[in-house]
Amino acid sequence: EWIDFSIYFNKIIDRFELTKNQNVTFIREIPETPMFVEIDQDKITQVLDNIISNAMKYSPEGGRITYRIKEEDTQIVVSISDEGVGIPSENVNKIFDRFYRVDKARTRRLGGTGLGLAIAKEMVQAHQGDIWAESVEGEGTTVYFSLPYDRMAEDDWS
Ligand code: ATP
Ligand code: MG
Repeated sequence: EWIDFSIYFNKIIDRFELTKNQNVTFIREIPETPMFVEIDQDKITQVLDNIISNAMKYSPEGGRITYRIKEEDTQIVVSISDEGVGIPSENVNKIFDRFYRVDKARTRRLGGTGLGLAIAKEMVQAHQGDIWAESVEGEGTTVYFSLPYDRMAEDDWS
């Protein structure tokens, strides 16, 4: 269905912000202009749930998590940045592989299966989008995903 992505994204962030029991600060850099995208809400909610859970899981006490949407000509790029442990650059693309986990000891303690981002990748690709990450060890990680969008189709609405 067609949804206004910024409103939908804010609602998901609100849910995490209201239920978090961890000292992390949320920062939103989300344009207020309407941006209509056609998505399967349940699937993209799963994608966001996993990316945000990861960001929280690897955030230090007092860390900031920054939520952004960048509007480009034919797509929107959604990103979630944390100030956590980061991922060694040679491994940053592997986090989207099934069962891949960066540090066996650390991730065993934090729990999870290592499937979250592999599922996220399938769901984003099913929307003709892409998903990728950038990370600096010891500084933090940003996970990005794109969703195609058609400004023309949006103009037709008004
Ligand atoms: P699951 O999502 O199935 O509960 P998981 O979170 O370990 O388990 P993924 O979400 O697929 O699995 O992430 C894969 C691995 O990528 C993680 O185990 C972790 O090592 C690394 N990773 C993912 N996000 C981050 C992040 N924000 N900061 C640091 N490492 C990360
Ligand atoms: Mg995960």
